[in-house]
Parts: sequence; structure tokens; C-alpha cells
Amino acid sequence: MTEYGCTDWRIFCQEYKDRDTAYVLCAVMVHDSVFAEGKASASKNARVNAARQALDKLAKMSAEDYKKLCNCETLLQQEAKIREEEKERKLLAKAKMMEAAGSV
Ligand SMILES: [Zn+2]
Repeated sequence: MTEYGCTDWRIFCQEYKDRDTAYVLCAVMVHDSVFAEGKASASKNARVNAARQALDKLAKMSAEDYKKLCNCETLLQQEAKIREEEKERKLLAKAKMMEAAGSV
């Protein structure tokens, strides 16, 4: 998932026990919503199933759909813009300070 530029995803696993069966349910969370799930009796298999389903889903998704789900790229661009503006403001403030100092 990281190759899509997403920094906010994780896998959660939870063990469940019924009266005579036990299984592990793993969920791939993307931006706090369940993206894919995998269920198996062994946690390792459950993780693999969840990851496989996630990859499967991603493969079928268009870039547009993906952007609806993940806004990391947009956020990164916004952050970069804010940083850029911050830099400009600081430079401007410095220039003003120097101006003020020079005029005294
Ligand atoms: Zn993301």
C-alpha cells in the first residue's frame, strides 16, 4: 500500500472464539475505515488473506477511486504549500526586521 503513497494504513487482527471454533479476523484499515478483511484459523493466514484481498481490491480500483479513499497525496501537497508559505513569511519578516534595523 505504501507504493500508493499512503501513510495511514494498518492491519488489525483479532482472535475470536466460538463454542467449538476459533478463528482470527484481520482487517486492513485505510484511513480508519475497513478496506479488506481476512479470516483464518491461524493469524498468519488471516493476515495473508486480508493483504491479498486488499491488493485484489486495489488492482481493481481506478486512481480516482483510490483518491477518494486515501487523501495522503493531497495532504502532502497541502503541507508542502503551507511550508512554502511559512518560509516566505519568515523571509519577509526577516527582511522587514533588517529594514527596520537599518533605518534606526
Ligand atoms: Zn492514505
